[in-house]
Amino acid sequence: MTEKKELIGLSKEEIAAEIEHLGEKPFRAKQLWQWLYFHGETDFEKMSSFSKDLRAKLAENFTISRPKIVTEQLSSDKTRKWLFEFKDGQRIETVYIPEEDRGAVCISTQVGCAVGCKFCHTGSQKITRNLTAGEIVSQFMAARDAYHEWPSPKDETRYLSNIVVMGMGEPLHNMENVIKALKILTDGDGIAISKRRVTLSTSGIAPNIVPMIQATGVKLAISLHAPNNEKRSQIMPINKRYPLEEVLKACHEYQQLDGSHFVTFEYLMLKDFNDSLDDARELMALMKKFQINAKFNLIAFNPWPGCSYEPSPQSRIIAFSKELQKNRFAAPIRVPRGQDILAACGQLKSKKDEKTAPKGE
Ligand code: SAH
Ligand code: SF4
Repeated sequence: MTEKKELIGLSKEEIAAEIEHLGEKPFRAKQLWQWLYFHGETDFEKMSSFSKDLRAKLAENFTISRPKIVTEQLSSDKTRKWLFEFKDGQRIETVYIPEEDRGAVCISTQVGCAVGCKFCHTGSQKITRNLTAGEIVSQFMAARDAYHEWPSPKDETRYLSNIVVMGMGEPLHNMENVIKALKILTDGDGIAISKRRVTLSTSGIAPNIVPMIQATGVKLAISLHAPNNEKRSQIMPINKRYPLEEVLKACHEYQQLDGSHFVTFEYLMLKDFNDSLDDARELMALMKKFQINAKFNLIAFNPWPGCSYEPSPQSRIIAFSKELQKNRFAAPIRVPRGQDILAACGQLKSKKDEKTAPKGE
């Protein structure tokens, strides 16, 4: 017997082709799409607009899967973290970060990460493999299952309102699957998360920045973390391959493309490394040089076992933020979420055996 094919992760065109292959009319493809992605149905028997025959045929040929929940943890601030396992036993983490009446699901794109940033827990776990489009989409679907948000509610009334592609992995190292997944997640006939409510964060794989945004229309965030090449290369080895100039040129191009005409930068505040007023001034000069309308999210560093960096004191972060704001740059200070369950930025990791920080190149 041939193995059944997984439906989650198939594009609209691929679903249409499967339906045609079964000898069914094209409108059945649209219905199936809605059952999968609008209703979140996982049982063919409950697809009531299909004949008994078609339901049986689908069940014979296909599966509708979610990742297996290995553990689920709830933080004191209501942030929720899942450790998910896929069919081959590989594991990743997904986080839900609730705000008052909405919230963001933070999804992973790879098992581990090849970029190896010195401050990042995920980076200390070497890359195992890319996630498939289905594995990326199904993280969000499993989160929706947990909050019973099926069928897709109206935008204004959903708790799971936003998606941040900021979990484990470098999304621009997994272009094809991430693009396919984002198209499914933002399709108006299904899960229907608006493109403007999706933010993808990258460490700066310069040549892939503009193609990703052109293909998906989502918002971009760049993990900058340092005001010059020398410092950035120390903490992000990828900077040797794609130095600041290349990343910022791509950002400038993105800025022209995107309706809001500004670029969001994440800036991790590391004690005595990148948190002085001189660093802030150098950062602003850089933005001027590359003509970028920048917004900075100042992130408190989240420590993890084995990492040698320390978080900047709150007073330094405030002074840094004020210096940027004085020059009309937005620079909100991000409050870490889910720290008690290691769900905050840079704390995600799915293997227990590698405890040390990554070595330099
Ligand atoms: N690989 C992508 C997306 C995942 S990381 C990227 O690097 O942008 C999401 C964000 O968490 C990035 O801005 C990353 O720099 C930040 N981050 C990593 N380690 C962190 C830590 N220990 N504390 C706080 N933020 C961290
Ligand atoms: Fe990879 Fe992002 Fe972590 Fe760097 S910060 S190691 S790119 S997941």
